[in-house]
Amino acid sequence: MNKIYNVGIIGGGVSGVVTALELAKYGVDTILFEQKESVVNGPPFCHLHAGGNLYPDISDEQCRILMKQSIDMARLFPESIDKRPTFISIPKSEKYAVDIIQDRLDMLVSYYKTLIDEDPLNEILGSPDDYYKIYSKQDLIELAEQPNVERPNTPDEWISNTIKLVDYEKLKTPVTLVQEYGWNLFRLAAQAQLALNKTENCNLKLNTSVIDIKDVRNENVDYNWEIYTKDEVYRVNYLVNSCGFKTGKFDESLHINTERLIEFKAAYVSKWQPIPGLIPELIFHGERGTPHGMVQLTPYSDDYYQIHGMTENITLFKDGLIQSKTNEAQPQFGEDINQKLFRGWKTDDINTRTENAIESVSKFVPSFKSATVGGPPLFGAQQIPGDDPSLRVGEVSFPYKSYARSEIVKASSALTVANQIITKIQEEKIIPVIAKRTNQNSLLDCISKDEIDQLASQLTIERGYPEALSKLIIEN
Ligand SMILES: Cc1cc2nc3c(=O)[nH]c(=O)nc-3n(C[C@H](O)[C@H](O)[C@H](O)COP(=O)(O)OP(=O)(O)OC[C@H]3O[C@@H](n4cnc5c(N)ncnc54)[C@H](O)[C@@H]3O)c2cc1C
Repeated sequence: MNKIYNVGIIGGGVSGVVTALELAKYGVDTILFEQKESVVNGPPFCHLHAGGNLYPDISDEQCRILMKQSIDMARLFPESIDKRPTFISIPKSEKYAVDIIQDRLDMLVSYYKTLIDEDPLNEILGSPDDYYKIYSKQDLIELAEQPNVERPNTPDEWISNTIKLVDYEKLKTPVTLVQEYGWNLFRLAAQAQLALNKTENCNLKLNTSVIDIKDVRNENVDYNWEIYTKDEVYRVNYLVNSCGFKTGKFDESLHINTERLIEFKAAYVSKWQPIPGLIPELIFHGERGTPHGMVQLTPYSDDYYQIHGMTENITLFKDGLIQSKTNEAQPQFGEDINQKLFRGWKTDDINTRTENAIESVSKFVPSFKSATVGGPPLFGAQQIPGDDPSLRVGEVSFPYKSYARSEIVKASSALTVANQIITKIQEEKIIPVIAKRTNQNSLLDCISKDEIDQLASQLTIERGYPEALSKLIIEN
């Protein structure tokens, strides 16, 4: 109990670890508490969302933010980025118009160019002129005649492999191929944990649940907060609450009432027969929450595929999206969701929902009917600040002096949040002003690919998933 840490961070999800690593890089001493046995072990992520093209209903501004933040995070964690493109289509049954999507893509290309003008190292999505390519029905007919390519290198090769499998008569044309990449959470977790283990500036406390906090800012002691675990009390000057969907728990103990939503969702792991050439992520747009909500097929290595289906019998759940009540900052799920979230899924539920997911893909990819359950689902609950469930870019707020609350909606916002917290800590004079701020992190840069491969594989197996999920289909 003797040491006073500059910063105490509760929650070792992507937000907490990036904040800890950014502070450690500047020599600021921190203590990071994670209740689980490894970091970045909460709700999953698998899409980088560099442009927000999976969300036709969000604003252009949110799309630009997602692109910029995604590029920043990809530069920090390049070994977690799977550089396979995304095929975007709209079924004929859906309301969205193809030209709206294309207007937005043109806007994104010019924005991407400005990011590269600011810093050439931002060019991680390939050349801006190749950010997207559209394909008419005639193009698809011609590409369907081309031979398969085991490891495609050009947009046409990706589409040629895809279009032989997809029933494109069901889709509006043109369709689009865009350089939105995959994001491997196991590899990011491995790189972050290895970097945290190497730095002396962060005391990483795994398997350590914070049970309470005490505000001692007015108690005439030379620190601001006490953090209570089962066995000890830790003293810190600045407190960061990055508890994910449990953020409200500590707001409640500080008597802060905040509006927030929390949402439980799941994605399913399936195994298919080997196919002749790699395919991109496949998106079939649809209205969220209706029986024909969006279908997403995400390729992994060794014939594993992850599936999202934005309907209540696949990814979404009845009573899965809930709101904080008056006088209650932390919303509470019902029993069915708590069972899945904390105590495990029943085998029947895994099988039924994964089979529903396979069925939803096979409407557009008929041969996918032969896919089978490939492992347990990737699932979790996430926070959405405020009351708008379509928000995709949540960030950080500072409800009290010396207290930051991170509420990111997409993993890509983690570095932005870390930077905002560091600025605030300087303003409050908890740390001296940092002379030169940079987005590069040498603690992360010095972790080798081999180390990441090894730990990512170990974490994937420990968490009960097929080892294939720790690999990229397109290696850097
Ligand atoms: C099915 C699904 C798919 C998703 N797909 C994507 C995607 O493709 N791309 C994307 O960008 N985002 C995606 N998201 C959202 C993404 O998962 C979240 O935005 C992100 O994980 C939030 O990170 P976080 O660090 O804020 O919270 P979390 O990852 O939830 O981390 C919070 C951490 O705090 C710990 N904690 C909580 N309470 C305590 C305590 N008292 N003591 C100690 N530790 C504590 C938890 O164990 C947890 O590790 C998806 C979410 C879901 C549910």
